[in-house]
Amino acid sequence: MRPRIMRAASRSTAKAEAANFVGDVLSDPVYAPEQPSRLRASRVTFMPGGRTNWHQHAVGQVLYVLSGVGRYQLEGEPVQEIVAGDTVVIPPNARHWHGSAPGTMMCHLAMSETDDQGRATSWFEPVSDGDYTKTPAKAD
Ligand code: MN
Repeated sequence: MRPRIMRAASRSTAKAEAANFVGDVLSDPVYAPEQPSRLRASRVTFMPGGRTNWHQHAVGQVLYVLSGVGRYQLEGEPVQEIVAGDTVVIPPNARHWHGSAPGTMMCHLAMSETDDQGRATSWFEPVSDGDYTKTPAKAD
């Protein structure tokens, strides 16, 4: 890890990998792990309808919503609405998905770490339209 400022204009926005997402999703790199750090951070922008597939993270994940209105669901629990300023804490190896609200974009900072074996995220099946369009639970 060497000291530097990584300039915004030097890094390109990419389309999120189609195999792991539904709809239009853009990813901007923030930080990739450099020893001894294990942190990976990305700014992810979900167009309306865009969401991740079901997935899990080896040592969990923290999401910080930067703008818009989104959705988040931990498997077996109700869909939750998430908005700018919310921080979502996702435990290790817990299946979940996150994305936009059906009619509204959402942008979040996604932060996770690799485990001792370098594992990070395991990807599963797409989130069905039925699961995606469920009315979210009220904020607690
Ligand atoms: Mn996740």
